[in-house]
Amino acid sequence: MEKRELLYEGKAKKVYRTDDDSLLIVSYKDDATAFNGEKKGTILGKGAINNRVTNHLMGVLEAAGIPTHFVRELSDTDSLVKKVDIIPLEVIVRNIAAGSLSKRLGLPEGTRMGSTVLEFCYKNDALGDPMVNEYHIFAMGFATRGELAHMADLSLRINGVLTAYFKEINVELIDFKLEFGKLADGSLVLADEISPDTCRFWDSTTGEKLDKDRFRRDLGNVEGAYLEIQKRLLG
Ligand code: ADP
Ligand code: UDP
Repeated sequence: MEKRELLYEGKAKKVYRTDDDSLLIVSYKDDATAFNGEKKGTILGKGAINNRVTNHLMGVLEAAGIPTHFVRELSDTDSLVKKVDIIPLEVIVRNIAAGSLSKRLGLPEGTRMGSTVLEFCYKNDALGDPMVNEYHIFAMGFATRGELAHMADLSLRINGVLTAYFKEINVELIDFKLEFGKLADGSLVLADEISPDTCRFWDSTTGEKLDKDRFRRDLGNVEGAYLEIQKRLLG
């Protein structure tokens, strides 16, 4: 499958049309941004790692019965995916308090939540991806009640599968972001990526951060952390 026109260039990926109207090629970049694009940098090798890690995890999820957009890996940095209409919501899943939740609720980072927390943010860079509740979501027409319920159910199932999977490689899945989209027939599938850019991973023994927080917070050894996650998942 060949890349045709560039449809969209985002912060971390480029999206290309293909000869098949129902398929897209996503190309992962080494570019890194944080704080809604305010901080910019490059993480060497990130594009290839995020491509492989995402595809591996999409495979794990498909095997567990979660529908995803993934079709196949084309190269180090490129993958073929089913084209979807992205639901303009980011679903944040949290097991342990960190980042913006710790700030908002005054919870020290590392506090285990009494039960899994789901948050929804409106995907809109100009507005800084504001958090929205179900009233906003229905009033704004971002998703129907059925779609939201389905997204919530899939997100909790994904959390169950991934939390157990990461535990086996001595990684605590702290929190992560998901995006869902609709295929031409209206069915909902997991889209976008699952990578150290979009998850918080802490080593279960040492608590060492193995994700984009190393870039956001200038903790050093950013490339090493991404490589470590790839190594533990893919050998
Ligand atoms: P951003 O838009 O946040 O800068 P990226 O650089 O990751 O993010 O760009 C990838 C874009 O492709 C995102 O807007 C994402 O929602 C979208 N996308 C991901 N998977 C699919 C898909 N299967 N079909 C259509 N769009 C997708
Ligand atoms: N996240 C993401 N994209 C976003 C916002 C958040 O992938 O636009 C991920 C982030 O990597 C973390 C989780 O969602 O794993 C929760 O992020 P949080 O709300 O704490 O925001 P942050 O600290 O990144 O500002």
